Amino acid sequence: MPRQLFVTTALPYANGNFHIGHIMEYIQADIWVRHQRMRGTAVDFVCADDTHGAPIMIAAEKAGLTPQQFVANIAAGRKPYLDGFHIGFDNWHSTDAPENHELARQIYRDLRDNKDGSLIESRTIEQFFDPDKGMFLPDRFIKGECPKCHAKDQYGDNCEQCGAVYAPTDLINPYSALSGAKPELRNSVHFFFKLSDPRCVGFLQQWTQDGKLQPEVANKIKEWFTVRSNPDGSSSEGLGDWDISRDAPYFGIEIPDAPGKYFYVWLDAPIGYLASLKNLLGQRGQDYDAYMANPALEQYHFIGKDIVTFHTLFFPACLHFSGRKTPDNIFVHGFLTVNNGEKMSKSRGTGLDPLKYLSLGMNPEWLRYYLAAKLSARNEDIDFNADDFMARVNSDLIGKYINIASRAAGFISKRFGGQLGEVSEDGAALLHQLRSEVGAMEQLYEARDYAKALRETMLLADKVNAYVDANKPWDLAKKPDQEARLQDVCTVCIKAFRILTCYLKPVLPALATQVEAFLNIEPLSYANIAQPMPAGHVIDTYQHLMQRVDIKQLEALFEAPEPAAAAQEIAHPGGEAIAPTIGIDDFSKIDLRIAKIVNCQAVAGSTKLLQLTLDVGELDETGEPRLRNVFSGIASMYKPEDLAGKLTVMVANLAPRKMKFGLSEGMVLAASHANEKAQPGIYVLEPFAGAQPGMRVH
Ligand SMILES: [Zn+2]
Repeated sequence: MPRQLFVTTALPYANGNFHIGHIMEYIQADIWVRHQRMRGTAVDFVCADDTHGAPIMIAAEKAGLTPQQFVANIAAGRKPYLDGFHIGFDNWHSTDAPENHELARQIYRDLRDNKDGSLIESRTIEQFFDPDKGMFLPDRFIKGECPKCHAKDQYGDNCEQCGAVYAPTDLINPYSALSGAKPELRNSVHFFFKLSDPRCVGFLQQWTQDGKLQPEVANKIKEWFTVRSNPDGSSSEGLGDWDISRDAPYFGIEIPDAPGKYFYVWLDAPIGYLASLKNLLGQRGQDYDAYMANPALEQYHFIGKDIVTFHTLFFPACLHFSGRKTPDNIFVHGFLTVNNGEKMSKSRGTGLDPLKYLSLGMNPEWLRYYLAAKLSARNEDIDFNADDFMARVNSDLIGKYINIASRAAGFISKRFGGQLGEVSEDGAALLHQLRSEVGAMEQLYEARDYAKALRETMLLADKVNAYVDANKPWDLAKKPDQEARLQDVCTVCIKAFRILTCYLKPVLPALATQVEAFLNIEPLSYANIAQPMPAGHVIDTYQHLMQRVDIKQLEALFEAPEPAAAAQEIAHPGGEAIAPTIGIDDFSKIDLRIAKIVNCQAVAGSTKLLQLTLDVGELDETGEPRLRNVFSGIASMYKPEDLAGKLTVMVANLAPRKMKFGLSEGMVLAASHANEKAQPGIYVLEPFAGAQPGMRVH
């Protein structure tokens, strides 16, 4: 039966753009997927945004958006990163999608109704409650004085001053980081997944220790079966039960038969892998249950070392005891540090901004090559070092590999009309040696030892370069009687270049496509490497395949984003990337009208808002002018008298929104920088003279 693979990367939390750590993981997985496809394996490669939980709910509220709008904005910004670095997911979905709601609820029901005894239990726990916000507070939203060193304003789980670990209830004078209110201890019923049940422990001891996991990962997990550390710093024996519920208000999936209770985000996040797959299969008209029931299906998840517990304990146990297939393996990688793990200060930005990298015109395949050259199958940290990056790209990738083609192709084009010639014995031996490595290369990629695959490829490139240096085509070209030998030597180089390109193809997919076009060949695979280009095969004229890294680009990449984030502006005008392209139909859905601000007043109880009364030329049923009430967050810049009587532009068909101070019936347009701390200010739009209330803005 042919192999069928289902591969994912970890779901990124939808509270911000991708950072370089995400891109590294996606590149690692993408290389493996491309390798699989080169062997003829069928692969479905999916990911999704992890959208639920208190942090997103709170961030959305701060931004004045619903959580759904907030995560939709984040999702809209994903594409430039993925396309930019040639990351070829088959589907990008969301954990807030209907497939995930349905799957998470069904998995929960199956665990609850397990025929050998329920694995769900409810218990009453005591928790801090914010009386102003009307919600239970997650640990990170409780602050107070450290019980040990008495440092002020420490988080609910540990002290940044003395490093003490404690429970939020140990804090002296605790307060809510959301409202500043003094939190109250309240009881709440929570649902627990019984990970300590002997069935779970027995299953996981087997599942995590049967040899599939990386040895260093399996060894770490082994410790968790005997000792675990509690939030208060003490430790307990064995696996603890897992609190899987949160109380409303919560942005998440409602728990079946438990109104007002939601799944903790980590319960439904990994189920998002299945939801994204199900959505993909749905698009293709394939049946999800039949797909998952295929005994040949293999399921793999690439993750970072910080989320091992969720993926090797909770997730497989939830799947197994709900009667579902468990992953075939979890591939764990370490963290990526930048420039020797140097802590990037705020003034130096976030280290390596992926979009800035692209906006500087840096080749995405340089980064793919560099990261691959450092990635092995081991769970260990790797470092992005600017000098090392430049050396590896310029000396190895360009100096050893690209140069083989650039040195030989010119002669083939100019002297032999692009035709390859016959290959004599020495060249044939070299090519045979290169080709005979195909099995070893395949195995190295399969084992995710990309570093070794690239080292071996560069050793082969060294052999080809030694052959070039020994035969000196530039000298042969000067000797009329050496015409045949010149064609022979250059043909060997081009054929060698084809083989090396095959070995680099999982890492350098765009370059490989260019090379396939240049050589006039079918897409390279491990299988067709044995079919060499025959004598007489015509190649295209050589076009420059890849530039060298310029030190100036690296300097710009790591330049401090100051003053006022000037360097960042290259990537993000106004502090944010331009939104994805829309058609005129999308634009015309937004009805923009000239509005007269007939009245403007301060809002009692708000330092941010002004209340505007707007006239867009509408009449009500009685023929009286219909005025609109709009709240706008512009009080920091304008006094009511600045605006009254002026014209502006409003979104006239925006659904009315209920706010704390009343109904807002539209929105006025105003400009601001995305980073309001770095560049404060918000500026209301005003039309040129002549515009009248009610005119549409096109
Ligand atoms: Zn302390």
